Amino acid sequence: MKPRLVRCHQGFASLPGKANIEVYYTIPEFGYWNKLFTCIECGELFMIDFDNPAFAGKTPEKIAGEANCSKCGNPLRETIRAYPQSFRADDGRIGHFEPDRIIPLDTESIAKEFVEIGV
Ligand SMILES: [Zn+2]
Repeated sequence: MKPRLVRCHQGFASLPGKANIEVYYTIPEFGYWNKLFTCIECGELFMIDFDNPAFAGKTPEKIAGEANCSKCGNPLRETIRAYPQSFRADDGRIGHFEPDRIIPLDTESIAKEFVEIGV
């Protein structure tokens, strides 16, 4: 599992008593679809490149296989969740975020490194 640069957008999620929690999300309009995931046990972020033909029809749990989370060591097939639909805040609480349906401008995208799963 290596870090890989991913074009993504920043969103701001909230939890009761806590606002402006930074989250990141990808959109398919970049021509490929890198999806983000999190380890729900520790909050580490990962990505999967679903344009990789080796992953066709496979679930994230299947792609994670025997890999353990690089941060907390838990088996990813059990702790992986779609992100930022589910995210773990600094205080350990689990939040949920749905990206805006309005596709943001490409110029507002940022490049950020995420650990790639499955390669
Ligand atoms: Zn973890």
